[in-house]
Amino acid sequence: MSTAFRFALPPTLSSLRNYVDGEFVTTAKRFDNVSPLHGKVLGQVHEADAALVDRAVKAARRALDGPWGSASVDERAQLLYRVAGVIERRFDEFVAAEVADTGRTVEQAKKLDVYRGIHNLRTFADLGKQAQGDFFETRTAGGDDLINYTVRKPLGVVASISPWNLPLLSVTWKSGPALICGNTMVVKPSEETPSSATLLAEAFHEAGAPPGVFNVVHGFGPNSAGAALTAHPGIDAVTFTGESRTGATIMKAVADGVKEISLELGGKNAAIVFADCDFDAAIEGTLRSAFANTGQVCLCTERVYVERPIFERFVAALKARTEKLKIGWPDEPGVDMGSLVSREHREKVRSYFKLAQDEGATLVTGGGVPTFGDERDQGAFIQPTIWTGLPDTARCMREEVFGPVCHIAPFDSEDEVLRRANDSVYGLAATLWTTNLSRAHRVARKVHTGIIWVNTWYLRDLRTPFGGTKLSGFGREGGRWSLDFYSETTNICIRL
Ligand code: NAD
Repeated sequence: MSTAFRFALPPTLSSLRNYVDGEFVTTAKRFDNVSPLHGKVLGQVHEADAALVDRAVKAARRALDGPWGSASVDERAQLLYRVAGVIERRFDEFVAAEVADTGRTVEQAKKLDVYRGIHNLRTFADLGKQAQGDFFETRTAGGDDLINYTVRKPLGVVASISPWNLPLLSVTWKSGPALICGNTMVVKPSEETPSSATLLAEAFHEAGAPPGVFNVVHGFGPNSAGAALTAHPGIDAVTFTGESRTGATIMKAVADGVKEISLELGGKNAAIVFADCDFDAAIEGTLRSAFANTGQVCLCTERVYVERPIFERFVAALKARTEKLKIGWPDEPGVDMGSLVSREHREKVRSYFKLAQDEGATLVTGGGVPTFGDERDQGAFIQPTIWTGLPDTARCMREEVFGPVCHIAPFDSEDEVLRRANDSVYGLAATLWTTNLSRAHRVARKVHTGIIWVNTWYLRDLRTPFGGTKLSGFGREGGRWSLDFYSETTNICIRL
């Protein structure tokens, strides 16, 4: 296969194998890994069938009964530190994998995926070492003296199914806490972005992970590795990040076995901009929250509500800044946006361009695809797009587009904007822009989302809870919430 094109992957990543029971495993059935930068085939992915998924789950089960099962939390942490060290040493390979697979800029791949991947593993190793149990002294009505204390135990085999938008971030966000809690894992990365998970498997291998502790199976969802994994009776829990509909399907798949499940799903996030905001900060923040990673972060803003006195000025300023965003090759100096993840996803986003028109939107900027006159025209690039004029009932106001799009609407009062922002089937994140401290606290408490930022967006402390309400999922991960999800608490009661 010729690899004479920009952002080709090294030969080692042109054949992506599964990692099962400490071995890299090929399969007969393969699919192409295509780069959205230019539509070129980066390599082949070995698709796991139900039999290979079964081998992975059984290997993960066996590993629980081996040295991993009796490893101390410090020994588990040492493994995570070593894996983080391998990622650090092979940093450029991970960045290349993320850029080629996702089409994002090099800067974004570094910050959103690779630095964050390293940080995820180290942070959860540290948090796991500090985790404490509870202790209660009890005197019963009958005069018995008791002590109660809790111990954390691993859940067992955790299946992790992740999306394509932040590949290494997603897998490490799950693997760090799951492994520090003593579980073993079978990871299925998105079929769109399989490279970094394969590299991560290499990192675990290099770091000396016992066979079966960390497994990677490649493939799709239905009728493939994803469905085989969630249907497998040998798994004990599922942690899923992806679309709400997929989350619902997976919930049904694990319902009969009454498995633990954590769902991080879609969003239709609102930004509320009050007239008393720091205007320039609100423009820069909204630009970032709407268009970062080409709008493909579950936390991205797609609905912007602006208080009427500054509405016109806000629309004009955001339009001017948006039109200055540079779309291009991931390593071009000053580039702001790469491509979407695939041509198929671009078709979905473009269908919303058409729908917005049909629903009566006013196009402020964008609404098309850029042309370059080179191989990028076979890629999945798209213009950042702003609309105004849609009613809150429009489908473009209610459905997650998951691209660089936002709609700006005026509002007149706090009560009105709260009602409109909360009028969504989703409840993942919201952003408030105001310099009025009381208002910030008052409004933040009334927004029905799991995460709210005030005067910023997407700044994260990994010790804080992360997750959504309504169709955005349930369960919280992050900090002790991750440790709670990935472990089972047993209470031990002793009569003195
Ligand atoms: P998706 O639901 O299409 O796929 C996610 C993963 O699920 C993939 O690995 C896919 O192969 C697998 N899958 C699909 N059907 C399956 C099935 N029936 N059984 C088992 N596995 C199955 O999502 P996507 O398009 O990859 O990702 C984009 C979505 O993810 C958006 O909705 C976005 O908002 C959401 N997301 C949410 C968060 C969050 O933290 N809330 C974070 C990132 C992305």
